[in-house]
Amino acid sequence: MENERQPSHRHHSPLSILDPKSQFRGRFAPSPTGDLHLGNARTALLAWLQARAAGGRFVLRVEDLDRGRVRPGIMEAQLADLRWLGLDWDEGPDVGGPFAPYEQSRRQGLYEQALRRLAARGLLYGCFCTRREIAGAASAPNGPDDEGPVYPGTCRALTPEEVEQRRAERGEAAVRFRVPARSVGLHDLLQGDRTFRPAEETGDFVVRRKDGVAAYQLAVVVDDAAMEVTHVVRGADLLPSTARQLLLYEALGLEPPAWIHVPLLLGPDGERLAKRHGAVSLRELREGGVRPETVVGWLAATCGLADAGEEAAPRDLLGRFSLERLPREPLILPATPWR
Ligand code: GLU
Repeated sequence: MENERQPSHRHHSPLSILDPKSQFRGRFAPSPTGDLHLGNARTALLAWLQARAAGGRFVLRVEDLDRGRVRPGIMEAQLADLRWLGLDWDEGPDVGGPFAPYEQSRRQGLYEQALRRLAARGLLYGCFCTRREIAGAASAPNGPDDEGPVYPGTCRALTPEEVEQRRAERGEAAVRFRVPARSVGLHDLLQGDRTFRPAEETGDFVVRRKDGVAAYQLAVVVDDAAMEVTHVVRGADLLPSTARQLLLYEALGLEPPAWIHVPLLLGPDGERLAKRHGAVSLRELREGGVRPETVVGWLAATCGLADAGEEAAPRDLLGRFSLERLPREPLILPATPWR
């Protein structure tokens, strides 16, 4: 069957990506909250190269759950920027595919199903705390920046009466996942073996927000599994998230993909790339008349896949892609040919 899952040993063997008959499925999953920048483009290029070099399929999924930050028209602009670079995909919001829809905002039913399965196992609870209360909790050091301060477990053991009372006073609850106290080990094809302690790093994390929308951690797990993604390439800033996601894969009885967390491209000040670093969005480069081959060649050079100053289309790089060549350290934005 075309979409049959691979045997579970596949992600222990990087060589399996060389098998042209493999059911390799890669993906890129942008959030339509702003223009794609060079860092996003670098991740997209590597994800595309890995999938295409393996003779696999490439999926474009739009992670548009954060209604407060999603802006209209940005998804279309992001897809156009990716196509301008010379990337393509077999499945996505604009081309459809067997696992449609490819926008998370249209997949809420799947997330609710997963939440019901977790709830049936007693792994969820409602949390009525405000952001301010959590931030103000005495023993709450800051967790990874995507998750806010460590949740102190205030609502973990509320009695049914207390839940009712709080609901009456405070309205809808967010839903949190009970994080086990143990450490979580994971294998990344680029970063190697890593160990995290989600219980101490974030505590019980939100899987469904107060407004009823699924949280990123849950949606990304449900979707990568449902879309039969075998290899996830994304920025190394998401590595701590991966430990939480692994807990969800286990709790849902789903097989995790192989992970490749690529080092970030940083601004000259060592901070993650942002507007203030100037001329870093694909839109600006394109509107400024920079050729896509110049951008792709430069991106590839930052990954050890092209010589400095070389111009290239993504397909020109297919024969050169290998995980072994990729850098493992974050990179301060080197000089670009366009400024
Ligand atoms: N949507 C996330 C982002 O744009 C990526 C999540 C992922 O690749 O798992 O940062």
